[in-house]
Amino acid sequence: MDDRKPQTEAVRIQAEVGPHREHAVPIFATSSFVFDDAEEMRAAFAGEIDRNIYSRFTNPNVTELSRKIALLEGMEAGHSTATGMAAVFSTFGALLSAGDHLIACQSLFGSTHTILTKILPRWGIEHTYIDAWDPDAWPEAVRPNTKLIFVETPTNPAVDLVDLERLGALAEDCGAVLAVDNCFATPILQRPVDFGADLCIHSATKFIDGQGRVMGGVVVGREDLVKEIFDFCRATGPALSPFNAWVLSKGVETLALRMEKHCENALVVAEWLESQEGLGHVRYPFLPSHPQYDVAQKQMTGGGAVVAFTLDGGLEQGKRFLDAVEMCSLTANLGDTRTIVSHPSSTTHAKLSEDERQAVRITPGLVRVSVGLEDPTDVIADLAQALERSR
Ligand SMILES: *Cc1c(COP(=O)(O)O)cnc(C)c1O
Repeated sequence: MDDRKPQTEAVRIQAEVGPHREHAVPIFATSSFVFDDAEEMRAAFAGEIDRNIYSRFTNPNVTELSRKIALLEGMEAGHSTATGMAAVFSTFGALLSAGDHLIACQSLFGSTHTILTKILPRWGIEHTYIDAWDPDAWPEAVRPNTKLIFVETPTNPAVDLVDLERLGALAEDCGAVLAVDNCFATPILQRPVDFGADLCIHSATKFIDGQGRVMGGVVVGREDLVKEIFDFCRATGPALSPFNAWVLSKGVETLALRMEKHCENALVVAEWLESQEGLGHVRYPFLPSHPQYDVAQKQMTGGGAVVAFTLDGGLEQGKRFLDAVEMCSLTANLGDTRTIVSHPSSTTHAKLSEDERQAVRITPGLVRVSVGLEDPTDVIADLAQALERSR
């Protein structure tokens, strides 16, 4: 069976079922697992036999999800956590020590930025931020104590790209671990391992669920690194619930199909936006006008669901635009079947200074659209009337 395609495994793999021989795997809603005798229990705790012990450590539904994502990413091993941020934080917590340094792309998910700037410095871990558009700056930031290179691509919310091939080569040169938050692309559109990444991190809350129901996170990668992250999680406790793992694992079965449609719809919406007046720029990885279009073509097989554009009328027009939207949802999530619009300057990134926002290319009028699975003509109709009424 070794020659099955990852997509097949993403559909077929499931935890072992019980005496009822369920076709869909049941939810293993149990805190712990029983042993026949003292010797079996001893061996399980000693790690001599592979058994579930306690659901803070492992649970069949959780293991199933981790295996599926590892297979899709082409990585050796995986571990799933309660949220995407638990996966991000556990990666830092497991791999970094006082005196270490990491290099990160400046455009980071807000909570990741908070960990780097507010939490890790308290533990003596320093970072250097690099601009996504400036690949020449990355090698200059390397120090003897650089342990980790951490990036997201495409970035949230400005949809910039980071050249994974160059970073993979740099990580190899300097002996640092390259970790990629692959949330926006998913393994369906981008496999960082092919460019030398050691770890991939996901907020499974987004496209892996894809229907806005549950939270979850996954980290997959080199076996030795995932083992460290697993040991860190086993002790610190950011465990994913079996129910959420079950929902997410079912989500993986339709991930490829959904991503294909997300990409098709998002490209239609992006092309329409580009033909409109009164918009500063429209950013979508698969629009030839994207300044890093060549990078997108090299490392992605589709542009993803997220399109960003700038309203010439700035902050006030951004708020008027959100007020004028009728069908699309105003909510903090993304990667849902339902199209979501957000205005980062007045919400997720409102606490940053104007300079900080500029550094990550969040203009006052930037609007982020996570294009869903509705008929794209209806999405465009809603955006068109909102654009008209916001002027
Ligand atoms: C949402 C998100 C996260 C955090 O995931 P949660 O599941 O919300 O904890 C991390 N990185 C990116 C790029 C995200 O979009």
